[in-house]
Amino acid sequence: MKKIRIKVIRIGYIPYDINFQKITNNNSALFEVDKEINDYSLPQDSQGNNWEYTDSQFKELLPSDFEGDFLFAICNTSLENNYYARRLTDNRIIFSLSTTSNILKTENIPIENLLLRMLYAYSLNFIRYDRRIPSKTEKTKFAHDETKGCLFDMNGYIPDIVHSCDSPIICDDCSVSLSNSKVPQDIIKKVKKELAKIKKNRYYKILTFVKKHPFISIMITFVFGLIINIVSNIIWELFIKKILAE
Ligand SMILES: [Zn+2]
Repeated sequence: MKKIRIKVIRIGYIPYDINFQKITNNNSALFEVDKEINDYSLPQDSQGNNWEYTDSQFKELLPSDFEGDFLFAICNTSLENNYYARRLTDNRIIFSLSTTSNILKTENIPIENLLLRMLYAYSLNFIRYDRRIPSKTEKTKFAHDETKGCLFDMNGYIPDIVHSCDSPIICDDCSVSLSNSKVPQDIIKKVKKELAKIKKNRYYKILTFVKKHPFISIMITFVFGLIINIVSNIIWELFIKKILAE
């Protein structure tokens, strides 16, 4: 299968420290991201009733001529209906960090995890819909309301997004649905392995474990302390004491 080529751009001011090399260097059997991430300005004020930028505005502001199969534009403004991503026309997607960044920060999940998770989901849908991104107005059925940590969780309650940003999965129902929609089974298998690598940093994993299991953590610390103490005593008695006595 021909790899999907994704063009990522930033539009407007993005006030976060994001390692975009993690996105452009991500090695996937499904897609590749153009190495050059371009910046675009946001020359208009919002036209929505609640200071949100409307789909029509972004349809006009985003480039239609780009190097790639679909365009993934990242912004930090509110989008229509408080969504964090909107599918526009001409294989273009606008994605906002404004509602998701704080949720990720609280859970110590890197923003790069969410970006990759979105690119995987859209790439699979791109194949599912005969190599195109269906626009928001088109009737589609690929997300499920139940939160399972799956790429296709609806996340109607936005904080639920954290469950699919740390080792996300493709649930059994979605695996069947994808393979029934002309997505090659070997690709689904490979993607599942790749998704397992989208993880929290190890430090935060340990922190989460300590928060969840404080008593076990204290016991582990105690046992380790005891072992270190015993080992240092043995080293003292067997080697250092003898060397000093000579
Ligand atoms: Zn699913």
